[in-house]
Amino acid sequence: MDDYSDWKMATRAIRVGHQRTAEDEHAPPIFTTSSYVYKSAAQAAARFSGDEPGNIYSRFTNPTVRNFEERLAAMEGGEVCVATATGMAAIMTTCIGLMEQGDHLLSSRSIFGSTVILFDKYLARFGIETTYVPLADVDAWRAAIRPNTKILFVETPSNPLGELGDIQALADLAHEHDCLLVVDNCFCTPALQRPLDLGADIVIHSATKYLDGQGRCMGGAVVGDEQNVGEEVYGVLRTAGPSMSPFNAWVFLNGLETLDLRMKAHSANAAELAHWLQEQPQVSKVHYPGLDSHPQKALADSQMKLPGGMLSFEVDGGQAAAWKVIDATRLLSITANLGDTKSTVTHPASTTHGRLTPEQRAEAGIGEGLIRISVGLEDVADIQADLARGLKLL
Ligand SMILES: *Cc1c(COP(=O)(O)O)cnc(C)c1O
Repeated sequence: MDDYSDWKMATRAIRVGHQRTAEDEHAPPIFTTSSYVYKSAAQAAARFSGDEPGNIYSRFTNPTVRNFEERLAAMEGGEVCVATATGMAAIMTTCIGLMEQGDHLLSSRSIFGSTVILFDKYLARFGIETTYVPLADVDAWRAAIRPNTKILFVETPSNPLGELGDIQALADLAHEHDCLLVVDNCFCTPALQRPLDLGADIVIHSATKYLDGQGRCMGGAVVGDEQNVGEEVYGVLRTAGPSMSPFNAWVFLNGLETLDLRMKAHSANAAELAHWLQEQPQVSKVHYPGLDSHPQKALADSQMKLPGGMLSFEVDGGQAAAWKVIDATRLLSITANLGDTKSTVTHPASTTHGRLTPEQRAEAGIGEGLIRISVGLEDVADIQADLARGLKLL
């Protein structure tokens, strides 16, 4: 691997990982091959036994995928990265690799919906129990740790309310109890937040979101140390096979080259939109970690470089009012996807959080009048005009 230790984030995102081939290409190639050829029977034997490093089979060794893995590991400051087919595959592979029957998983309450189902329905089937605590309440985390707790799982900032978990405090707590802290860093990316620097053990990504940045490909990644990620998580990947395709890895590699630039632009647009929304008479509350009104603004400033591109806001009048605003948009895409150059708008109570009971939604703070925006890279004046059209109807 290149010696990138002196390079800053934006440089790593562009330069790490590509090993130029004999063709002297400037841009990284896509290696669409399932297997590799050995020079002799002895070399094949050495590769299979692990005595000689090198490519074996693209389920677990592919040059384009490795290029992406090395680059993302360098950006997150981890020893190794394991790329997966989707973000959910990254979470599943991590859980299977690092836990066993009888272990306990402690998670923040407001996490991605499919992650909850993975924990409650599927991991539970194999004797792994999950309990949930409020993200921001470190004392609640401490009180919920059991002797068999193995992993603390956190997503920060939360979706859709932008609450924060204190990564450093949770890492200290995890290590006091011999647990691992796993952080889903999908909303921030390493351009805005580096959980490993704050003491976390493992970082999870859905590359589908900001790492791609244009909503084209599915992918995921696990970043961490040689033992937990390089041995245990990689072991599951190479055996069970939820691997990233070389084509998708190539798209993500190109996405990473502009990540630093894009995250700054997403944050600038979101901050401007959040301030504007705060001034609209029809908007009762704006949730965004970059606002002075955010209850954890100090924590946001200390663990995030910038507040990111996700925000939500509340209008009076419940679902009918929220839907009116959403349906009046012409520019914004009505879709639950996020991290795209195109701004998207969602009504969490009837989509991403629609499977919760009304009581669970109320407990999670997801009101009927809540609207979530993944702020894209269009001119922010056009995004404002698109939302103003609906707000005027209220
Ligand atoms: C989308 C998402 C995931 C799952 O990723 P997929 O690529 O859709 O499998 C996990 N965590 C968060 C925070 C996400 O937004």
